[in-house]
Amino acid sequence: MFKKVLIANRGEIACRIAAVLRREGIASVAVYSEADAAAPHRAAADEAVLIGGAHVTQSYLKGEAIIKAALATGAEAVHPGYGLLSENAHFARRVAAAGLTWIGPKPEVIEQMGDKARARERVAAAGVPVVPGSDGPVSDADAPALAARLGYPVLVKAAAGGGGIGMVVVNKPERLGQALQSCRDRGQSSFGDATVYLEKLIEAPRHVEVQVLFDQHGHGVHLFERECTLQRRHQKVIEEAPSPFITAHPALRAGLTEAALKAARAVGYENAGTVEFIVDAEGHFYFIEMNTRLQVEHPVTEAITGVDLIAWQIKIAAGAPLTLAQAALEIQGHAIECRVYAEDPARKFIPRPGPVTVFNPPQIEGARVDAGVAAGGEMSPYYDPMMAKLIVHGEDRLQATARTKAALAGFEIKPIETNLSFLAQILEAPFFAAGDFDTGTLERLVKGATRPHSTRDR
Ligand code: ADP
Ligand code: ADP
Ligand code: MG
Repeated sequence: MFKKVLIANRGEIACRIAAVLRREGIASVAVYSEADAAAPHRAAADEAVLIGGAHVTQSYLKGEAIIKAALATGAEAVHPGYGLLSENAHFARRVAAAGLTWIGPKPEVIEQMGDKARARERVAAAGVPVVPGSDGPVSDADAPALAARLGYPVLVKAAAGGGGIGMVVVNKPERLGQALQSCRDRGQSSFGDATVYLEKLIEAPRHVEVQVLFDQHGHGVHLFERECTLQRRHQKVIEEAPSPFITAHPALRAGLTEAALKAARAVGYENAGTVEFIVDAEGHFYFIEMNTRLQVEHPVTEAITGVDLIAWQIKIAAGAPLTLAQAALEIQGHAIECRVYAEDPARKFIPRPGPVTVFNPPQIEGARVDAGVAAGGEMSPYYDPMMAKLIVHGEDRLQATARTKAALAGFEIKPIETNLSFLAQILEAPFFAAGDFDTGTLERLVKGATRPHSTRDR
């Protein structure tokens, strides 16, 4: 096992990784920017190294500075968390070249799955259903005929896209050329890659994803699914495990989890990963992408399985065999995660950074709060406005819902604006209680409109 691990991230996930390392008896090294000198993740680790300026390009995205910090402190491995450099194959390679262990899948696998157009091809060849669309990237010349064959509306997607960025809905042929161009521009400016591909737009779908865990010796398991349908701008807001839709259609679970394992095996996957699917109203499911890292919403899976995913990520990277047996894993109760943001729901959800004088997580049975900020601290304008994640477990969905409502009501954050009221509004909505929603539901809730599919408005 490693003696010391460097955490190449910030915020709640860096704090959480530091806590796991401490519990496992492994020393931890944090890296921090000038803006994060007083941030909780710095104090959460045993040691901390200043790596540069506030802007992520001057600090948390500066691979060389991070590797230098790891070598200088004698760390043996690097945990990238999520976001930032976590899906950067080039960085993973440089970590390995420096003689350090990357806590994640092999760089080739990050690369293969990071190209979403190629990933589709790859898993389709292994027998996993994918959304009808292009075989790999699409050229401007081939796009019109393919889109006509798929039938409008279609979705133009940046092959390197992520974080909900780089997707354009096209409702009619006249708009296709313009959509291809704007998607290529977005791909180039945000991800340095203008490659795009086409998918049929699945109407009013759900987003259901499967957590997998594979060791370096070919043994892998799935840890059931997460429901991540409640999204705004393609970004998840509330996640649950298990999915109420899959629970209502139990035959789907076997197919979905088997498809996820197949996709992971097709690329020789190692470590923790998530296979994302969209599910249509009839229960057909289609692969959309694989995230080759820990997911923001991983705690709901931990809550229903009792498995610590970060602890396993570390053990697997150290070469340990995965001792979890599929047959021994079972769903225990229900868990709901709410992403608490420093943003103003009344003003188009604009980020509201600033000082935080009061930060009182609720004391509710079954609740866990993973926070990246503490009382007396601040939400910095330089980084993601997510302050904390509230994860609530209950014996069943009803109890988890009731506890989540109580926890949201008891969560005290001052003086900055947060989305706590919006989260509470969702939990109170009849669609939530019924488990009856699609990926456009939240946009409709925000607009107070009853349009059939918000996806048309994108
Ligand atoms: P998840 O499925 O785990 O929610 P996301 O794709 O939403 O994953 O991204 C996880 C985190 O990574 C986000 O919270 C965000 O901070 C960061 N992230 C991902 N992609 C981008 C991007 N293109 N630009 C900025 N941040 C991103
Ligand atoms: P990212 O890499 O940004 O996470 P994804 O490909 O995972 O992008 O898609 C993000 C979200 O966009 C999905 O959760 C879903 O809500 C929506 N989406 C993606 N592909 C489709 C599709 N073919 N039809 C309908 N909605 C889609
Ligand atoms: Mg995704």
